[in-house]
Amino acid sequence: MTKVILRRCEEYDLKEIQRILHESIEQLGGIPALRPGAKVLVKPNLLMRRDPDRHTTTHPVVVEAVVRQLQAMGCSVILADSPGGPFTEGLLRGLYALTGMEDVANRTGASLNCSTESVEVELPDAYQSHMLTVMRCAAEADCIVSVGKIKTHGLTAYTGAVKNLFGLVPGMLKVDAHARYPDISEFSKLLLDIERWAQPCLSVLDGIFGMEGAGPSGGSPRRLNALVVSDNAHACDVVGAALIGFAPEEVATLKCAANLGVLPVPVVVGDSVDSLAQRFRRAPADAAARGILTNPIFARMVRSKPVVKKSRCVGCGACMRSCPGKAIELVDKRPRFHYENCIRCYCCQELCPQTAIEVWQPFFMKWLR
Ligand code: SF4
Ligand code: SF4
Repeated sequence: MTKVILRRCEEYDLKEIQRILHESIEQLGGIPALRPGAKVLVKPNLLMRRDPDRHTTTHPVVVEAVVRQLQAMGCSVILADSPGGPFTEGLLRGLYALTGMEDVANRTGASLNCSTESVEVELPDAYQSHMLTVMRCAAEADCIVSVGKIKTHGLTAYTGAVKNLFGLVPGMLKVDAHARYPDISEFSKLLLDIERWAQPCLSVLDGIFGMEGAGPSGGSPRRLNALVVSDNAHACDVVGAALIGFAPEEVATLKCAANLGVLPVPVVVGDSVDSLAQRFRRAPADAAARGILTNPIFARMVRSKPVVKKSRCVGCGACMRSCPGKAIELVDKRPRFHYENCIRCYCCQELCPQTAIEVWQPFFMKWLR
């Protein structure tokens, strides 16, 4: 039986969230890996340098509650993430400062990973990739805790606990992974490999506020009033996705897990999904990727595509640098797309600091979804 603890939580209140986490771990029957002395890597979703109030990243109060709970269990904690784009110590420090992680570390005594070292790890029973390159700190930790944010996502439809672990792959190597696996089902298998390697002993989803619309970075915050906790990341995502109106077969990682026979049927403990669920506006995305249009010729003719909103663009070039297909050039400090090379990964949209990239969709997609 795979338990998922779902609890109504309306405020970013440290004590209340810590109380919920403590009770949730008890309801799960304890987490053996979280033993005294264990070195635990906590992996929040720190997609980009953004103020937490924009709800693109895991809220620092949720992260702090997780850290304090782990410390109360006798664990030592290191906070780490690697957002897309270049991976340097300076950029990591800036990321931690702006997303509130530096303050969490200062208040709790947790360490912040500022090392950009990586290691290759083997995964003999991989679905997709037998070798993974991950941050060294992740390989050296005794166990990993995923602290994701419930959001819509242009590529995978939804992001929560499993997709969050993609950040264990350092910096620009994520761009390479998109280029290597442009097909969403192959890319999803890679995400499952990362989860299988990381084996997060605990997953927590910040759903007090989620993001709807053009997630994971260009959408709008929306109150959801939920915290989700499980020792199984896929089960956690089944519930997180259901809370914002997605069935498992609509979410790339969950569909992939179901096809591979590794998707558990969660038993929800606490509040019911129905009592908290809402229907979030979905991210604009490709009809073919979503499996809405199965005829490949027609699907190609009506593909969605990234476009730039010139009034917002400041010409920083982050989109160009993050493009795995090398489908973007900067002309007069504005991106120009070469759609013949575009693999519709939407990294450019995800990583544009000005939310200047939008996804254009054929009109009928709006009522097909
Ligand atoms: S679209 Fe965004 S990422 Fe690209 S150059 Fe403009 S501001 Fe920078
Ligand atoms: S243009 Fe954007 S969506 Fe297309 S391949 Fe590049 S990053 Fe991905």
